[in-house]
Order: sequence, then structure tokens, then C-alpha cells
Amino acid sequence: MHPEAHRLIGSAELTIAPLPQSLRLRLVPQAVIESLRLNGSAVPYDFAGGVLTVKAAAPARRAAQQLTIRYRADFTAIPPQETVGIEDPSFGISATIREEGTYLSAGVPWFPQLPGARGRHRIEVSAPAGVTAVTAGRLLHSATRAGRTVTSWQSDLPMEGLALSAGAFTVDRDDFDGIQLLTFLSANNAALAPGYLAAMRRHLAFYRELLGPYPYPKFAVVENFLPTGYGLPSWTLLGSSVIRLPFLLDTSLPHEIVHSWWGNAVEVDYARGNWSEGLTTYLADYLLKERAGAAEARDYRRKILRDYAALVTDRNDFPLRSFQGRMAKYQQAVGYGKGAMTFHMLRREVGERTFWRGLRRMGAEGNGKSLGWGEIERIFSSETGRDLRWFFAQWVERAGAPRLALDGVRIKPSAGGWTVSGTIRQHGEPYRLDITLRLTAANGAVVDHAIRLNGPRTPFSLATGDRPTALEADPENELFRRLAPEEIPATVNDLLEPQRPLVVVAEGREPLREAARDLLRGLHWEDAELRGEQSVSPAQLAGRDLLLLGWPVRRELQPTLPASLEIAPDGTFAWQGSSGDALFAVVTAPDAAATTALLLAETTAAAAAVAPKISHYGRYSLLLFASGRNLVKTTWEPAASPMKVLLPTETPP
Ligand SMILES: [Zn+2]
Repeated sequence: MHPEAHRLIGSAELTIAPLPQSLRLRLVPQAVIESLRLNGSAVPYDFAGGVLTVKAAAPARRAAQQLTIRYRADFTAIPPQETVGIEDPSFGISATIREEGTYLSAGVPWFPQLPGARGRHRIEVSAPAGVTAVTAGRLLHSATRAGRTVTSWQSDLPMEGLALSAGAFTVDRDDFDGIQLLTFLSANNAALAPGYLAAMRRHLAFYRELLGPYPYPKFAVVENFLPTGYGLPSWTLLGSSVIRLPFLLDTSLPHEIVHSWWGNAVEVDYARGNWSEGLTTYLADYLLKERAGAAEARDYRRKILRDYAALVTDRNDFPLRSFQGRMAKYQQAVGYGKGAMTFHMLRREVGERTFWRGLRRMGAEGNGKSLGWGEIERIFSSETGRDLRWFFAQWVERAGAPRLALDGVRIKPSAGGWTVSGTIRQHGEPYRLDITLRLTAANGAVVDHAIRLNGPRTPFSLATGDRPTALEADPENELFRRLAPEEIPATVNDLLEPQRPLVVVAEGREPLREAARDLLRGLHWEDAELRGEQSVSPAQLAGRDLLLLGWPVRRELQPTLPASLEIAPDGTFAWQGSSGDALFAVVTAPDAAATTALLLAETTAAAAAVAPKISHYGRYSLLLFASGRNLVKTTWEPAASPMKVLLPTETPP
């Protein structure tokens, strides 16, 4: 490999048995064949349009035929300079060889491949001194001699294509029960290796218990020159900028480790629907929250519902079965979010033991095969001994989400206590749902009742001893549903599709204009109109999304904020006892037609330090920072909910 020339010089030895009648191989069309030998003899061939046809008459069928192809190919794709705002997770790069790094994806035939045939691979890569290559399988050795670094890998699991990455890496390693744990990091990030190796060990131990044996001989964390988060069979490729985020150890890393089971060892037939992102999100991102506590788990489920409500409309919605991959945020809200909730509801439907037993069976039966939703339905129906057709038809094959509301709720004294009655309404074609109704008493005591919904209206009547003060449906957010507009708090995400955006700079805070430049770029507000506060009238603000830089002096420009956020007339601020040196808050305008955001900072430098970060906190309403570090990130409590009713505390007549 010659990164300075973007060139791969290859020698491929293929052992093929038996030899097919016509031998046609795939190889990137820009390749140049230097020689081709079959069992040691030069044979005629034809290479055009990425298809290499070997024209030799098939020799007597021996057990194995040896085909040796020498070739070279250049991979010159230029990665985008600016990746902010690109939704395509590959950044349009499927294969490139460059001095800053090499990435050749498994879908690109960078070595000759027999279409449809899965082989075992031994790969040896010679690169300039210090450049190490990583691919599937076990690391055999890596050494530098005479100005070249040679790395070799052995991959015994049959695969058709292989992804390969290379770069100037520091290699660190550990061993976990015979599984190689490896990190390939740039010099800048080499100090992260011990933390990654320890986290890999911890996650592998946890997931092996839950999901069955880890399917590969190694797991490697590899740094990429593009800001990717790829999960490949037995390795993950993470961008330089993201790899040092401390929370990655417990977010992206377990996500990519869980993909070893789902999406890699058990493959996805994309044409039949990509179930692996929903399942991986559920078992990694979600399950780690669940281990941290019930409140964290509920908040995560709620975030899924908020993302769906904010990003998915009746026009762009689609059934989970049609999800193939994430090209836009609304697709992620269905494929990852609704997918994860579907596995959560499946777990509640079949029970804890059956759920984990079913997953282990999926891992064992699906290893080396591709599964679709149909097989998942079959496995769980068989494990639970019940037909789950209705479940998969409802959640996987049908687009949309239930829309639920409490209606006509009343409280009456009854023998020995109180009776709360009412109706749960479903808008649209009803779903079959098991929902929890929770009564809360004045002293905080709660009583849960389970109700099955089947039709558009389900009446209920709940008896309870202590006088309840509130009734809430699905208080723990166990069900996937479409939140009502009043349940959706304003968040940073609401600024991403602005309506006639206007930036207003508070009197005396003009330097914030320059400091906020990266904020405007991150929100795609570069073209927003910009004004000083003295040059706008409140009438001009109606229906417009607004960003206030600094606390306006004029009362009529000051937004209404939640009471727990205190802002003094001089612009100093505090949220529940925390202050920090920079604040970003998003609120809904009183007419609910637009969004108002507010950036406050003690100093211009404090504002400039947080400006490029804010757009990454899309789900939050309030952010507090100190010295550029996030102190508080929170989402407002919803103003109201059709799923919650406060009960009168006076006895009705
Ligand atoms: Zn994933």
C-alpha cells in the first residue's frame, strides 16, 4: 500500500474448489491487472467494467484450483472538508487511500472476489513504516523492517468482502479469555488505550452473559480520519474527534460491541428490513440507562418518543419493516427509536426470561446467516408458545404510532375509598395495548392498574383506598406512542428548521455577535437576519424563531422562562443552584407558533467556547456550561398532557 500515491499494489491468491464453469470475479473497475495465473500457468483473461473473466478452459477438476492475480488500483476519493451537517454516516466515502488514513469498505471489491462466495481470508499489508492496517479476524503479527510496516490478519469466519483501515497507529492490546482486545490510535489519542481496553473487557463480560458467546476472535477500536461510528465484524471505526469524548466508553463503544451479535455475526437482509439498529440501540444505549436506574430508563424511553414526535410526520413516516439505514434524522427516529421501543414492548409481552432466551436463540440460530423480522417473530412465538403475529403486524408492518388520551375522568367516593372512572381514547385505527393507569395519592403513594386497550374507547373504573389526587396513563413511558403537541417541550432541535430566523443582540453585548458565529453555523442559521435590540419592535418578532444574544434590557423582549431558571437584570443566571459561565435555553413563544433561544455568557470567551457545541445537544431545552464544559443539560417538564389528569381535592356533589 502506497498512501502518498493513493495506490494499492495487490497480489491475491484465491483457492477455489470446485472451479465454476465460468470464472468471473469482481474487482474495482479502475484496477489494472498485471498478471493472472491459474495453477502456476499464465491464462488468458478479460477485465472490463469491474468484472474479471478467466478464459481458461477448466482444467481437470482437482480438489482446489489456485488463482494468483497481481494488480494495482488507485483509490483517490477526497473526503469532504467540512462534515458538519452531512447526514450520510459514510460522508460519501466508500474507499480511499490517503496519507491521513485509509478506508476500504467491505462493499468495495478492492481485492478479487468470487460473487456470492464466502471465503476465509489471510491478509498481509505492507505499508510505510508506522502505518498499521486493520481488518476482520485475529491479528497474527505486526512488525517494521527496512522502512515498511507489515501487518497480517487471519479471518476464519467465511465472508465475501472485507473492510480495511490503515493509518499511523499506536497499537495497544490485552486479552480477555482468548479474545484479543486491541486499540489502534493516533499519537494524539494513544493515552486513551487503557480506558478503552478496560471498557471493552467490561462490556464483553456483560454482553456475553446476556447474549451468549462473543462471536469473534478479537475486538478492536480503530481511529478514523472521518468522523464515523462504524460497527464492523469484530472492530469499530470511530472518528478522531469523537473517540476522545469520555462518554463514548459507555455509549458508542457498547453499541458497536453489541453490533458484533446483531448486524455482524447475525446478518441483516436489508431488503427485508433492518432490525439490528433497533435491537442494538435497545441492548446498548437503552439497557445501560436501565442499569443506572429506573428514572434514567424512563427518560431514555421518553426521549425516543420526543424524537419521533419532533422528526416524524404523517408524510415521512414509514413502517419499521421498511427501515434500511439512517440517511436522515427522521429515519433514525423510526429505525433506531421505534425499533428499540418495539423490543422493549416485546420484552414486556413475552416476559423477562423468555426475552433473553429468545435473543440467545437468535444469536445461535442466526450466526453466519441473515435474519429478517419474520424469523424474529417465529423465534419469539416459539419461545413463548403464543402466536405473536398481531404484535409484529402492529409494530413492524404498520406505520405510525398510537395516539392516546384520557377522557371524562371522574372521581367518586365509594365503599371503603374512592372510584376513579373514565375512558382511554385511541385516535385512528386502534392498537392492542396493555397500559398502566397510575393513581397517586396526596401523600405520594401510588397504585398501578393494568388495562388492555383494544378499541377506540376503553372505559375503566378503578377502586382505591386513599383519595387520589392524580391519574396518569403510561406514567413510565413503556409504550411507543405519538406525544401530543403539549407534551413536547422546546429543545435545541426545534431551532434546526427555523421560521424566518432573527438574531437579536442585547444592548451592550455586541461582542457576542462574533462569539456566536459557530453557534449559528451549527444551527444552520448563518443567513439569519441580525439586529440590535433597540432596532426591533415586538411586532416584528411575531411568528419568528428568535435567538437572543445576551439578556435584553427591554422588558418586552425578555422571554418567559420556567420559574426555576433565575435571571437577574444584569444577565447573571442560576438553575436549581447551578450557575456556570454560559447558558443556552430554548423556550416556546407564548403563541406556541415559534421558538425563542437565549445565549447568556459571563464573558465573550465563555460564549465562544460553547458556541460550536450547542447544536450537538439537540434533545435539550437548557444547557449550562463552565469553562466550555457542560454542567447541566435538561429538558423542560411538559406543560400538560392528555395522559394526565389532576383530580379535584374537594368532594364532588
Ligand atoms: Zn448501530
